[in-house]
Amino acid sequence: KRQHVRKPDWLKINIKANKQYKELKTLMREKNLHTVCEEARCPNIHECWGERRTATFMILGSVCTRACRFCAVKTGLPTELDLAEPERVADSVVLMNLKHVVITVVARDDLKDGGASVLAETVRAIRRKSPQTSIEVLPSDMAGVKENIQILMDAKPDILNHNIETVRRLTPRVRAKAKYDRSLEFLRRSKEMQPDIPTKSSLMVGLGETEEEILEVMDDLRANDVDIMTIGQYLQPTKKHLPVQKYYAPIEFGRLRKIAMEKGFKHCEAGPLVRSSYHADEQVNAATKE
Ligand code: SF4
Ligand code: SF4
Repeated sequence: KRQHVRKPDWLKINIKANKQYKELKTLMREKNLHTVCEEARCPNIHECWGERRTATFMILGSVCTRACRFCAVKTGLPTELDLAEPERVADSVVLMNLKHVVITVVARDDLKDGGASVLAETVRAIRRKSPQTSIEVLPSDMAGVKENIQILMDAKPDILNHNIETVRRLTPRVRAKAKYDRSLEFLRRSKEMQPDIPTKSSLMVGLGETEEEILEVMDDLRANDVDIMTIGQYLQPTKKHLPVQKYYAPIEFGRLRKIAMEKGFKHCEAGPLVRSSYHADEQVNAATKE
C-alpha cells in the first residue's frame, strides 16, 4: 500500500478574506466570469488580486472536453460560446485596474478552432479598453493546428504561455490527450510566428519525476526557444486526482531555478506555491529587457 506523503508546513497557509477580495468576487458573479484563481482555489489569490493586480480569467466556460488527472476543472461537453465574453473580460480588467492579466481557455476540442478566435478577440478587447495592461495568453494546445496558433499570435499578446505540465515519461498518465512533443511544437511555432513575443511554460513537480527528467524538460524548452519557465509543487485537488509523490523543499526549488537560469532562460520562477501565472507581471519585464 502506498504511504501517504504528509503535507509540509510551508504549504499550510491561512487564507483570510479581505474586503477587496470580496468585492472582486462579487464583480465576477455580476459579469458571469470565471477565474482560475477562484476555481483552482489558488493560494496566491490575495496577493495577486490585491497588491499585484493580476488575475487569470478562464474564458469559453468552465467545463473542459479533456480530463487531465491533475486538474480540478470539470470535464464534459461545454455548451458556452459566448461572443460577448471578450468585452466583459475587458471591462473587468478595467474595473479591477489590472496591471497584468492572464487569459486561459479550457481545451475546447469541440470547436473547430479550439477557441483561438475568441481568445484572440479577448486580447484585442483588453488592448482597446486597457492599453496599459500586459496580456498573457495561456491556451491548451488547440489540437496543434497551425492556423489556430496563427489566429492567436496575430492578436499579439505580450506573453504566450503554454504549459508542458510534466516530464515526457509521465505525460500520457497526467495529461489527457495532450502530447509532450505537440506542446513543444506549439511553443516553437508561436515563437517562429512572432519572434518578439516571449514564450513561457510551466512544470509541476511532485508527480514522481526524477531530477534528470526535470533537466530534460528544461533542455527541451530551451531547444524550442522558450524564454520563461515556472516550476511549482503539484497539489492534489481532490482524492480522485493523482496523489502527490513528493513535496519539494524550498531549497530544492531554489536549486532548480538556478539550473534553469544557467540553461539560458531569461526568467524562472520556482517555489512551492508558484503557479503558471504567479508573479507574471515581473516576468514580462524580465523577458522583454534585453
Ligand atoms: Fe490567479 Fe495565477 Fe495569481 Fe493564482 S497565481 S491567484 S491563478 S493569477
Ligand atoms: Fe484542465 Fe486544461 Fe486538462 Fe482541461 S485541458 S482538464 S483545463 S489541464
